[in-house]
Amino acid sequence: MTQTTKYKRVLLKLSGEALMGNDPFGINRDTIMQIVSQIKEITDMGVQVGVVVGGGNIFRGVSAQAGSMDRATADYMGMMATVMNALALKDAFESLGVKARVQSALSMQQIAETYARPKAIQYLEEGKVVIFAAGTGNPFFTTDTAAALRGAEMNCDIMMKATNVDGVYNADPKKDPSAVRYQTLTFDEALIKNLKVMDATAFALCRERKLNIVVFGISKEGALKRVILGEDEGTLVHN
Ligand code: UDP
Repeated sequence: MTQTTKYKRVLLKLSGEALMGNDPFGINRDTIMQIVSQIKEITDMGVQVGVVVGGGNIFRGVSAQAGSMDRATADYMGMMATVMNALALKDAFESLGVKARVQSALSMQQIAETYARPKAIQYLEEGKVVIFAAGTGNPFFTTDTAAALRGAEMNCDIMMKATNVDGVYNADPKKDPSAVRYQTLTFDEALIKNLKVMDATAFALCRERKLNIVVFGISKEGALKRVILGEDEGTLVHN
């Protein structure tokens, strides 16, 4: 029996850190396989999935490693880091028999297609996972903003922001055991309470495009599927 899903087309934002597992940097193969298996669960249910992957596990334009470098140059390095993660994700999907394509916002035709909206939509309709690499293709932005942009362009039903915490809390749950998770929040409430859901540019774009956001924990087994089924998982930020 096929289960009814709350969302048909989703944009999943995976930070680079989500791929590190317990390693200090880089890509942890077991972690990436755990994440990709969770995504397979929802593609098997007929959900169309676009993924925007970050690069913070390898390089961040504003990091200490970037030091006194020219910011734009450092940001291009950060974008290239996201391409490495995208290739690792594609490889992991294929190892599980899930068809996946990488589309990069920066042209590097030997290793990835260049981003093209109609082609990306076609892939989603064909049930292929589309991994959007190289962020927005512009320095001074983040992959959160790239996720909001691609989510809006792909007419996704929801932006799913995967984090290390299983939702948005009224205090840091790692420091305060009495911290409470919000089940839902409006965009206005998140702003008034100064809750960090996504960076400000991404948040504003999602709000303007009426693209609701779910913040949830990707390391929690089955969490992605639970969000897709509309169960009480993570925090839904809505208009
Ligand atoms: N980046 C950029 N433009 C974009 C997206 C990313 O310049 O549109 C660069 C920026 O240097 C950023 C790095 O790529 O620090 C990695 O992206 P991000 O920090 O968003 O990754 P995450 O925190 O999700 O791992």
